[in-house]
Amino acid sequence: REHLLSVKDLKTYFHTSAGISKAVDGVSFTLDRGKTLGIVGESGSGKSVTASSVIRLLPKTGSIESGEIEFDGKDMVNISMSDLLEIRGKDIAMIYQDPMTSLDPVFKVGSQMIELIRAHENVTKEEARKRSIEMLRLVGIPEPERRMDSYPYELSGGMCQRVIIAMAMSLHPKFIIADEPTTALDVTVQSQVLDLLQGLQEKFGTAILLITHNLGIVWKMADDVMVMYAGRTVEHASTGELYANPLHPYTWGLLDSMPKLSDDEDADLKTIPGVPPDLRLTGTCCNFCDRCPYAKEICEREVPPLNEVAPGHFVACHLQDGKGGLVRGEVNR
Ligand code: SF4
Ligand code: MG
Repeated sequence: REHLLSVKDLKTYFHTSAGISKAVDGVSFTLDRGKTLGIVGESGSGKSVTASSVIRLLPKTGSIESGEIEFDGKDMVNISMSDLLEIRGKDIAMIYQDPMTSLDPVFKVGSQMIELIRAHENVTKEEARKRSIEMLRLVGIPEPERRMDSYPYELSGGMCQRVIIAMAMSLHPKFIIADEPTTALDVTVQSQVLDLLQGLQEKFGTAILLITHNLGIVWKMADDVMVMYAGRTVEHASTGELYANPLHPYTWGLLDSMPKLSDDEDADLKTIPGVPPDLRLTGTCCNFCDRCPYAKEICEREVPPLNEVAPGHFVACHLQDGKGGLVRGEVNR
């Protein structure tokens, strides 16, 4: 079976005067058409860098050291810049936390939408305008014709994020990367925007890579979940399996501190004591060992491999490979 996106053993490092930081240190996953993969973790876990690597939008100091990224049959690691620019926007759209990252404050909403469509498709201004209005209508913007003439600052944050989604969907992309798409919005709007995204995904068959620190959002949106910690995948399973049978101590911590969609952001992930390790020094132990209540001696000298412990359920923890002196099921959380 051919996956829309397939990432194999991706390593993306940052080279700074202070040393090499292993932001993404050997991550693999696949995503099929029309499906949603949630990547969850704290800030600094490598979730955004993983997504930026896929579209090759890394900061200057970042580089892909090794690994494979195949999107829709194309080798994204070795692709030419012109092919890459064509794919970005047209086949892959991005939605970020702050809509102002994607909207230009000095141009009207309508002209930005029209320009985007015409940058990627050979259509007349009138056709692009019609499609833009239709998209604004689809995302629930009242009086879309009139809104075409609005400047971004005349719209609320929620409305701006709807415009971004309308723009993202206007080219019928195969794939959307949504990086904390609703974090900046208040809770009622948050859930409306997620419903909207899900509805459009079904209508257009778009695959979504959803990056979030909020497991409540993943539960609502994602088919599969990958939990990242300090640049590595610690657990990966279908959403149902992960919630029913979580196996990694870090996942347990995330679930115990899981915010409801109705909680505010400050409540997120507060209950796991400690901080992630220095990413320059990782790779000799379990990255979570300083914070893990179950850490054994072996955890400090051997990186736990990501093993498939049940069909489609992967976990990287010595509790699950017997080396920690414990076997599966022995831990009572
Ligand atoms: Fe905790 Fe050890 Fe498992 Fe790491 S490998 S999560 S330190 S038990
Ligand atoms: Mg981020």
